[in-house]
Amino acid sequence: MVYDRSDIEGLDAAILMNPNVWKASGHVGSFADLMVDCKECKKRFRVDKIEGKVCPECKGALTEPRSFNLMFKTQVGSVEGQAIDVYLRPETAQGIFVNFANVLVSSRKKPPFGVAQIGKSFRNEITTGNFTFRCREFEQMELEFFVKPGDDEKWYEYWVNERFNWWISLGIRKENLRLREHAKDELAHYAKRCHDIEFMFPMGWSELEGIANRTDYDLKKHSEISGADLSFFDEATKERYMPYVIEPSGGVDRGVLAVLVDGYRSEQVKDKERVYLALDYRLAPIKVAVLPLLKNRPEIVEMAHKLRDDIRGSYRVVYDDTAAIGRLYRRQDEIGTPFCVTVDVDSLTDGKVTVRNRDTMQQERVEASRVKEMLAPKLCM
Ligand code: ATP
Repeated sequence: MVYDRSDIEGLDAAILMNPNVWKASGHVGSFADLMVDCKECKKRFRVDKIEGKVCPECKGALTEPRSFNLMFKTQVGSVEGQAIDVYLRPETAQGIFVNFANVLVSSRKKPPFGVAQIGKSFRNEITTGNFTFRCREFEQMELEFFVKPGDDEKWYEYWVNERFNWWISLGIRKENLRLREHAKDELAHYAKRCHDIEFMFPMGWSELEGIANRTDYDLKKHSEISGADLSFFDEATKERYMPYVIEPSGGVDRGVLAVLVDGYRSEQVKDKERVYLALDYRLAPIKVAVLPLLKNRPEIVEMAHKLRDDIRGSYRVVYDDTAAIGRLYRRQDEIGTPFCVTVDVDSLTDGKVTVRNRDTMQQERVEASRVKEMLAPKLCM
């Protein structure tokens, strides 16, 4: 979003901000889950996640629902008794709104334009789990895209499509993704419309990202509470207006989980199960593994080290000689490494090595000096 487009700026806002920011956003007043406790086993549940009036685990009686604010609190100030309560940000979005005017002036942008950021957010979730799906500390990626009121519906549709296609462009299979529009009674207090992009996680369809039309709610509220006018004046048309905001808001951790789940493949190869991770090459943490066929032949090890050093700097590469070759291949398959390069006895005389593809397991003999050049068009992303 930031590097490939001219209409979006990147930002890294603060995690601890003036507590009034969270009053303006509505988080102090209403960022709460309704929860119930089981009187028998003492476990706590979100009301919207349980069916029925008894404990889902032990069938014990439940307490009346109580509101539970999800923001983590800490204190700012060194003098005891005079410290003020502040919050760890529960989303990155508000850091963008309070920096709106700074970005506007310093980047000389005008709507339609956006400000995007990736960063940690913190929520005191009642029930964490499903691996990294719900954590108390997680990474968000959010874009606030500021547009002229009246243009908001058009930009809303644009971003819903753009974001859906982005997940597909990462190699996630289309049948594992779907769009779900929020019903009117499900919409957050600030939203005019909202779509969730959902992924078929092992526990069922669940939210990966939300795209909301937040109207001018946030800029208006921050103007009101801070006293700073955050409206935009268009020099060309001499119009002043409060921009509307379209917000795609996704979870990096959920995204990684979706990519791992979607990429997991298992097949029978000569009566044995082969597991591999069919990651898009851009997402594979390691691009190339250099493996010696025999680790007790110093010339082979030396040639493999040289090849690794040659590839390093261009791609993330590892060298591994801690098992037999079959085992080494499987390890790399399981973490999604696209290419393995093997140095064997013949390499010492013909100068060639074997390049093996993760998905097809096909092998090709290539001059060691040409490996980097041969991989370039495949890994060039
Ligand atoms: P949920 O309904 O699952 O609690 P939410 O609707 O409260 O999520 P948003 O406030 O819209 O989530 O946050 C935007 C994105 O941040 C979500 O789509 C999700 O990917 C991610 N996210 C939110 N809460 C968590 C969490 N506790 N752990 C990991 N990711 C999260």
